[in-house]
Amino acid sequence: MDLEDTLLMMPGPVPVAPRVLRAMSKPMINHRSAEFAGIYTDCREILSSVFQTKNNIFLLSGSGTAGMEAAVGSVAGSGDKVIAIENGKFGERFKDLAARYAEVVPLVFEWGLPIDLEMVKEKLEEGAKAITLVHNETSTGILNPASEIGKLAKKHDALFIMDGVTSLGGDDVKVDEWGVDIAIVGSQKCLAAPPGLAVVSVSEKAFEAMKSVSKKPYYNDLMAYKKSGDKPRPETPYTPAIPLFYALQEALHIVKEEGMEARIKRHRILSEAIRAAVAEMKIEMFPQLNEYSHYSNTISAMKAPEGIDGEDIKNDMKKRGVIIAGGQERLKSKIFRIGCMGNITARDVLSTIQQLEIVLN
Ligand code: PLP
Repeated sequence: MDLEDTLLMMPGPVPVAPRVLRAMSKPMINHRSAEFAGIYTDCREILSSVFQTKNNIFLLSGSGTAGMEAAVGSVAGSGDKVIAIENGKFGERFKDLAARYAEVVPLVFEWGLPIDLEMVKEKLEEGAKAITLVHNETSTGILNPASEIGKLAKKHDALFIMDGVTSLGGDDVKVDEWGVDIAIVGSQKCLAAPPGLAVVSVSEKAFEAMKSVSKKPYYNDLMAYKKSGDKPRPETPYTPAIPLFYALQEALHIVKEEGMEARIKRHRILSEAIRAAVAEMKIEMFPQLNEYSHYSNTISAMKAPEGIDGEDIKNDMKKRGVIIAGGQERLKSKIFRIGCMGNITARDVLSTIQQLEIVLN
């Protein structure tokens, strides 16, 4: 397979601009230096506008899951209750991961169904230290109601931990307005950098909550990130993945040049175009929505047409040079998913739709 000729239309990793790839080949630098501090600070500044937050931002060497683990493990320890909302694979991951550190109160909905806010409210009324939510559930293509969950969490004094792994950088995510205490994104999704970095924003309330946790993760202890990040010359606690920092900085400059407003609009228009095109092909969307849920603006999940295996659609698309995703675990074969993250263009979407039409006919 010619990698140069392959179009990645999956939910990450996504195509990376040549200037981002080139940035990774720069010489190594001392990670305890003014040069590194400059890169870290630049990234954090641009990320503040992506996250729409004044909260502290940290860059962790590790994928999105490392950020999720850092978030839950830093604020919740044994005996602390964490409500874990699940309506897809990544909600399930948050639940499983939280169970390693805290006492999990699962709130499980069928994958692909919207969240029932009344049930969230009832669980919160019983008391919890934190609640986890996947904003953009990549496995099902649902955009979950983050602002509503934020309001409920605030009312019941629970920390709101939000996986924004596939929404931040591509969709409108208002960390401060929604009251998100910890938000997480992975570098390889809508930010269009290579995989390997997790970005985490942390509120003062979350730092306060960390003080009472005795057994936090060692490598991904967010308090340690704060201590290093607060230095006059900011740094990370341990040796960071320097080439990935170079790449993310360059990717963030692309984000800044486009402007977040335009970037969000592009993701929305292109995802709408995918939905309109598949509707023309009489393909049904997979997620079921309620008044608080929406179709994702970065990933579209469709039901495989009657008598066709979703995996075959994915494999046939691959033969034609377009990498899309199938369903995960229990959704395998039943659905197929087309990502629209990062720097995807109208031409990329048109080529994908064109190939899909051929594959399905
Ligand atoms: N959360 C969501 C919503 C995701 O889509 C993913 C990956 O696809 C993750 C978390 C996990 O991220 P990573 O694979 O970078 O650890």
